[in-house]
Amino acid sequence: MKMHRVTAVVILLVAISTAAAAQWGRVCSSQSSNKIRGCDSHGCGRYNAPRGSRKHKGVDVVCTDGSEVYAPFTGNIDKQAKPYGNGNAIDDGVQLSGSGFCIKMFYIKPIKYRGSIKKGEKIGVLLPMQRVYRGIISHVHIQNCDLSDPTSNL
Ligand SMILES: [Zn+2]
Repeated sequence: MKMHRVTAVVILLVAISTAAAAQWGRVCSSQSSNKIRGCDSHGCGRYNAPRGSRKHKGVDVVCTDGSEVYAPFTGNIDKQAKPYGNGNAIDDGVQLSGSGFCIKMFYIKPIKYRGSIKKGEKIGVLLPMQRVYRGIISHVHIQNCDLSDPTSNL
């Protein structure tokens, strides 16, 4: 009886941690699963990595220039979201919400700026990041709308 209860608790905990660890689908066609950018001459891709005097409030998911980018969850493209607003070659992206999430995805040329989207559906292609940051590990930048840490959702 006691043994069964322990087993049940362990199974429940494993189920909860698995659900929390990977809620989002694959983001980029050039990777078989979501991979966070390590460090290169331009910085590191993890949440809270230093960016000059500021901190990186998102995660960078490895993705080569021109790759297809997929919706990590089912929901809606709410609007265009630009990382810089300076009109450079990678200054485009979208805000996506649904399934209990709200995120911004930067450096992609989206197929549309508004409307419903399903998990795994193509939402755009990665813009030519090497043209702006030569030698960087090209990536999609994903940040939560509330700037909390999205790492566990990947
Ligand atoms: Zn980033």
